[in-house]
Amino acid sequence: MERTFAIVKPDAVEKNVIGRVLNRIEEEGFKVVAMRMVNLSRTDAEGFYAVHEERPFFNDLTQFMSSGPAVVMCLERDGAIAKWREVMGATNPEEAAEGTLRKQLGTNIERNATHGSDAPETAATEIAYFFGGIDLR
Ligand code: GDP
Repeated sequence: MERTFAIVKPDAVEKNVIGRVLNRIEEEGFKVVAMRMVNLSRTDAEGFYAVHEERPFFNDLTQFMSSGPAVVMCLERDGAIAKWREVMGATNPEEAAEGTLRKQLGTNIERNATHGSDAPETAATEIAYFFGGIDLR
């Protein structure tokens, strides 16, 4: 079993599609092992996306991620990291495959509905950024 970290981003919460994302997660055989709604401060978002600090879109991205509530989750499944990225689709919804969440629910390359870890090390760091102690054992 592998764990990954997922976010229903503020654009998807605003669109009232938390349930659609969760439904898909369950249909695809993931177990939700931890989950919470959060309101990230700008500093929280900057900490989470610290690896992107040098990217030209860092300011816009952290502004967006702190613009409203989001739902953070730890998901478990065989091959969870790769599978969740497959279910989400490409970063840019315009380039995402038919049937993927970003294609179905995303608006543009920034407001792309969901987040998923890209490797075991980032999954561990991201899970630990949000969950600990009583949330997840
Ligand atoms: P991911 O792993 O598919 O989420 O993509 P990245 O790690 O490359 O980027 C992280 C997040 O930054 C994406 O999910 C988008 O929300 C945002 N992002 C990526 N590229 C761009 C861009 O060119 N412009 C803006 N404004 N946001 C971007």
